[in-house]
Amino acid sequence: MEKKLRVIVENCPQNHNCPSVKICPVGALTQEGFQAPVVDDEKCIRCGKCSSFCPKKALVLEEL
Ligand code: SF4
Repeated sequence: MEKKLRVIVENCPQNHNCPSVKICPVGALTQEGFQAPVVDDEKCIRCGKCSSFCPKKALVLEEL
């Protein structure tokens, strides 16, 4: 089953350093200032670590 990480910007309060950026094992998440993080689909291995870590459910691993 193919998956894709989706960033739900509305769920992110955008007022803090995203803790999930450090959780990602392949450095696929980046953040500019306090904006919602951005995923690099080329790097992301769809492991789901960030989505289970984000308390606001702003990172969702979707099945396509
Ligand atoms: S799903 Fe895994 S590889 Fe992809 S951005 Fe999240 S932590 Fe990184």
